[in-house]
Amino acid sequence: MYSVGVDIGATKTNFVLVQRGKILKREGVLTAKNQKGLLEAIEAVSEDLLSGISRSEVKGIGLGVPGPINKERTEILNPPNLTSLSNQPLAKIVQGHLRLKTKMENDANCFALAEARLGGGKKSKVVLGITLGSGVGGGLVINGELHKGAFGAAGEIGHMTINYNGLKCSCGGQGCLEQYASEKFFLRKGAYPQAFQEKAQKGDKRALNVYQEYGRYLGAGISSAINLIDPDVVVIGGGISSGYKFFIKSVQAEVALRVISPSARKYVKIKEAQFGAWSGAVGAALLVD
Ligand SMILES: [Zn+2]
Repeated sequence: MYSVGVDIGATKTNFVLVQRGKILKREGVLTAKNQKGLLEAIEAVSEDLLSGISRSEVKGIGLGVPGPINKERTEILNPPNLTSLSNQPLAKIVQGHLRLKTKMENDANCFALAEARLGGGKKSKVVLGITLGSGVGGGLVINGELHKGAFGAAGEIGHMTINYNGLKCSCGGQGCLEQYASEKFFLRKGAYPQAFQEKAQKGDKRALNVYQEYGRYLGAGISSAINLIDPDVVVIGGGISSGYKFFIKSVQAEVALRVISPSARKYVKIKEAQFGAWSGAVGAALLVD
């Protein structure tokens, strides 16, 4: 049996065709700015990936979407970077067009699901997935299943307060981890993370210091999450994670300092995502698995 996973990002939409947890085909396109264009792309690329496969062998399509969705997983609420989809029953529309079972989930949850079942968190009991990019996303997978919470919004680690009187956040709050552990942190230091990574690669002192400071903020956030949920594995992905080796040591130093349980401090594993940019799409495919 086959399933299709679609990870709809603010700039790029990634598609994968998955069979028994293995990626058979992958394709990335630019995300259309309007709903009509986006639907056309979802249909065209999915049909392309499924060409030559009988519909009876297809389990369905999973959609990973940026931003919060309703508890019933039928509507996207208010994605800040994809306003054309606000309050749209996207899964229902896609299901109507493609005549395949369609499920939808928050993109960070898709990331966490893929890494927990097939990637860095495989065979672990409690997995926390964190994505570091233009924002900070999170998802929690317990015994292989997503923990969605009472109102469907569990895992929003990016909006955990790490500085009570800190920087204003797009969510309306203040001092959220996202302000200190996303791209925004690097932009305040003067450039995109990639630029810092290139410099750090060459041994540039300032770039290495910026990554160290970044790791301290991220480590403080991760330590709070570890104290709250006691995971066995924390998997880190998203664009900024390509500079993993430059910040992981200071993350680990914060964990050693701030995690209360001696066992958690000693045994919790912090790992890099295994599917890279395709985790979200793989997790989306797992929604219909
Ligand atoms: Zn916030």
